[in-house]
Amino acid sequence: MSAPNNSYDPVEVTALHPDEVARMRDEALAAIAAAASLDELKEVRLAHAGDRSPLALANREIGALPPAAKADAGKRVGGARREVGEAVKARQAALEEERDARVLVEEAVDVTLPWDRAPRGARHPLTTIAERMTDIFVGMGFEVAEGPEVEAEWFNFDALNFLPDHPARTMQDTFFVEAPSGGESGLVLRTHTSPVQVRALLDRDLPVYVVAPGRTFRTDELDATHSPVFHQLEGLVVDEGITLAHLRGAITAFVQGMFGSGLRTRFRPSYFPFTEPSAEVDMECFVCRGASVGRPEAPCRTCSSEGWIEIGGCGVVNPRVLTAAGVDTDRYSGWAFGLGVERTLMFARGVKDMRDMVEGDVRFASAFEREI
Ligand SMILES: [Zn+2]
Repeated sequence: MSAPNNSYDPVEVTALHPDEVARMRDEALAAIAAAASLDELKEVRLAHAGDRSPLALANREIGALPPAAKADAGKRVGGARREVGEAVKARQAALEEERDARVLVEEAVDVTLPWDRAPRGARHPLTTIAERMTDIFVGMGFEVAEGPEVEAEWFNFDALNFLPDHPARTMQDTFFVEAPSGGESGLVLRTHTSPVQVRALLDRDLPVYVVAPGRTFRTDELDATHSPVFHQLEGLVVDEGITLAHLRGAITAFVQGMFGSGLRTRFRPSYFPFTEPSAEVDMECFVCRGASVGRPEAPCRTCSSEGWIEIGGCGVVNPRVLTAAGVDTDRYSGWAFGLGVERTLMFARGVKDMRDMVEGDVRFASAFEREI
């Protein structure tokens, strides 16, 4: 409040009384000294040195004083404000210095610590073994083909000669994604890599020599020997004059390239809707080469002393499949095979449990990194 115009004694203006100015100054200095952090100091600065602080408000009262009283009051209030301002600056510098020193300690990097404490990742052995299997066929002149994992039922079943009521269609426990509607094929998670055969025939000019490594799905429970997600390596050849002998030759070349020279293969009759005739493929055990058969004193864990290991299925492509893909069956014939990647990893590297392959423990993958 300003004093009345006819009574200009600054002492009567409470805010400008020397004791009151000293009190405001001391209160400000005490608060500044007590500020323990830069944030606290900011609050204190706004309260005691800001536009709405008691000293700033007192300063405004000076204007209402008579000229004679202005100098004295101005000196007093100005001095107090300067003191407060300097105290804020000094406290600010001290707190910043403290903070910098603390950051230096807290964020210090010890350059003498070992740098590789975080374990390195590793490529999954299923990936590396599938690549190695693929490479052997690429070396024989095959190209790599791909298809979608969510596949039209037509590609997964119909085009491969699985008729709607075919028992094999229910034998394969399928994840259905979308039911057929309005004449459109339904969608499934592909139960094998064989639909890539049909896609390759539709997409490419003949002759076709392709391999298709990929992920496949069936509604199996995860246990030591089953997984709902697994991998296959599909192979397809369609050309003029192709016979079963070429198939046997290609499979044997693969087995010898992957597991060692001189290894033999054998075909056992089997059935698949999309090949006729069809066969299961066995390879000679690459560990004992048959020497463990009938010798219980020297058992072989890799082939269970049977001398042979099953590696997949194959056959001559059923002409119905070629026809579905628009291939002239009078001129062209072909064969196809499917190899299990998990199975190959299991017997090739002694993995006993499928669950190890899917649980994602990097220690499992790391163990194979230098081996494959
Ligand atoms: Zn063996």
